[in-house]
Amino acid sequence: MQFSDFNFSDRLNDGLYDMGFDKPTPIQEMAIPVIQAGKDLIACAQTGTGKTAAFVLPILNKLATSENNQLNTLILAPTRELAMQIDQQIEGFSYYLGVSSIPVYGGGSGETFLTQKRALEMGAEIVIATPGRLIALLSSGKIDFKNLKHLILDEADRMLDMGFFDDIVHIISHIPTDRQTILFSATMPPNIRKLAQKIMLNPESINI
Ligand code: AMP
Repeated sequence: MQFSDFNFSDRLNDGLYDMGFDKPTPIQEMAIPVIQAGKDLIACAQTGTGKTAAFVLPILNKLATSENNQLNTLILAPTRELAMQIDQQIEGFSYYLGVSSIPVYGGGSGETFLTQKRALEMGAEIVIATPGRLIALLSSGKIDFKNLKHLILDEADRMLDMGFFDDIVHIISHIPTDRQTILFSATMPPNIRKLAQKIMLNPESINI
């Protein structure tokens, strides 16, 4: 399989080329068509398999062809480091696309919080957030999910290990139900199944 099989926009293919991506990895081959079809997805995949690009590329391709500049996609990640890595991949792929993303994470100074709030006011199509910081931003009224179409949970097992189950359910209660929900996890313990049942609709499953 080749990246050209996904019929991505030329501008996204240019970004892929610049990032040195030549052939899709197995998780990308399996996940990208499911996400392009608009289905909910549970994918069991480890770090290093190319899981980030597996969910980022089909979302960026949808945004490449949309004129709407409102918040479209929320990516939840367990740590600041992972949120920043995802944001960096998005920036690399979207160099020719004019899609903007903002990472919001806890820690840092009060100034970091202010900078994140200001960045959200400027607007972005994609927010990558750690759950605790996102709850703080939700209660400050700085984030509006009414046009949100895609929700992605990355490293969901780690988020649950860190005690974020209730925070995640609370965040999702603010998101419209006519969305696509995608969950990536390295392991599939019962609490992940329970979360998936609560937040997803007839998901497809992929196991790498
Ligand atoms: P991830 O599993 O998303 O953390 O990705 C691991 C590393 O593999 C990252 O540095 C990606 O940039 C890289 N990568 C992912 N998919 C591909 C691909 N199809 N071709 C080349 N590098 C890739």
